[in-house]
Amino acid sequence: MYNPKSHKAEEFIHHGEILETLEYAKSNKNNKEVIDRILEKARLKKGLSHREAAVLLDCEIEEKNKEIFDLAMEIKQDYYGNRIVLFAPLYLSNYCVNGCVYCPYHHQNQHIPRKKLTQEEIRNEVIALQDMGHKRLAIESGEDPVNNPIEYILESIKTIYSVKHKNGAIRRVNVNIAATSVENYRKLHEAGIGTYVLFQETYNKESYEKLHPTGPKHNYAYHTEAMDRAMEAGIDDVSLGVLFGLESYRYEFTALMMHAEHLEAAFGVGPHAISVPRIKKADDIDPEAFDNGIDDDTFAKIVACIRIATPYTGMIVSTRESEECRKRLLSLGISQMSGGSKTSVGGYFKPMPDSEDSSQFDISDRRPLDDVIKWLMELGYLPSFCTACYRAGRTGERFMEVCKHQQIHNFCHPNAIITLKEYLEDYASPETKALGEKFIKHEMEILESGEKIKSAVAEDLVKIEAGERDFRF
Ligand code: SAM
Repeated sequence: MYNPKSHKAEEFIHHGEILETLEYAKSNKNNKEVIDRILEKARLKKGLSHREAAVLLDCEIEEKNKEIFDLAMEIKQDYYGNRIVLFAPLYLSNYCVNGCVYCPYHHQNQHIPRKKLTQEEIRNEVIALQDMGHKRLAIESGEDPVNNPIEYILESIKTIYSVKHKNGAIRRVNVNIAATSVENYRKLHEAGIGTYVLFQETYNKESYEKLHPTGPKHNYAYHTEAMDRAMEAGIDDVSLGVLFGLESYRYEFTALMMHAEHLEAAFGVGPHAISVPRIKKADDIDPEAFDNGIDDDTFAKIVACIRIATPYTGMIVSTRESEECRKRLLSLGISQMSGGSKTSVGGYFKPMPDSEDSSQFDISDRRPLDDVIKWLMELGYLPSFCTACYRAGRTGERFMEVCKHQQIHNFCHPNAIITLKEYLEDYASPETKALGEKFIKHEMEILESGEKIKSAVAEDLVKIEAGERDFRF
């Protein structure tokens, strides 16, 4: 039976409930009355149920679709303003015992170079990332209890936080590693991680088992219940995602919304963020081999509907997507993006010769971080390197409370300005710096926080110019 509060995968991601929802959405996709009712609720900006969201996703009435996109933009503006948080992935190891058929790290792949960074190599990668200006990383690793045990991940996190190069620092390490035990999640929590990220890949159990034929990842329930174990271990910022292209996007979208509802129902706090990766070409992977690929228009609709259904949840797009596609998604709800990324194990410190290329997948947006920062500002977005919430203990329920009351602007906008200023002082090219200074001046003029915060930000900006670092609200 469908039960959003249950901790059993097949009860909170209930196949029957998904099929009924898809049927309901299909039969109402041209029903103006039902769609209007859902849009009326959506305009309260407090989210939608998976059934309501599924109807909007299926909606075929042109004028209503325009309303959906407009509302997504409005919600994005209300909750996240023009800020975009930047991060980079750091691949630690591509040793993997799983057989995921879409991922080139799968165990059977004999020709991809296998690599695991030593602590010294991690230090060098982190220095290179700090020299780009990054403050927030997402560490990535294959699953291999012998080559990449939890102790290796924990030691790597410690190394990353310990590197202080010039004015640089990694202030938040998010972790994207395979589903693990409560005990291991507890260790990650104690190591001071930011968000625990795990993509479901697909919520359809039958497809999931076919796509993960071998290895521990084959276990659908263990993978799907991972966020429950992470929460039980005290990690209250978790990030969901599906790999679009593997299964029907309608199925995935509905299940993703049900997963978010489940976390809210069972733990009182929804996901901190949702990622929207699409399958890409990789070493021995041809995305055409998967018949559920989605075009850019469908992708944009999915992003808009996630934004409307889960207004308090951040949304992440990676460099898997092109500059053009990322630009479109930004206005519809994206709040975080990676920039200047490498998906190989190593490669930030020293470029890789082709023969050593261990990339997980091809990236489309290959621009250096500085170009991304300049581009964001040219589009009117405020690039942010903020990591303040998690360092101030504003995680999980506390973060959601702040977010639900739209107080997030009071913290995030000042923090974005301050961290952009640090970037401009330490890492920006002359053109980006010139544009950034003008941008900050304008942002200070429109800053909505009270006079007290405004003058504190102004003081911090002066102090940053004088060489001090790491201010936050
Ligand atoms: N090994 C961990 C796990 O099993 O969850 C960490 C994940 S892996 C380093 C990061 C993510 O990359 C995967 O969850 C998957 O969704 C995505 N990925 C794998 N192959 C991909 C491909 N060919 N194109 C795009 N994304 C891919």
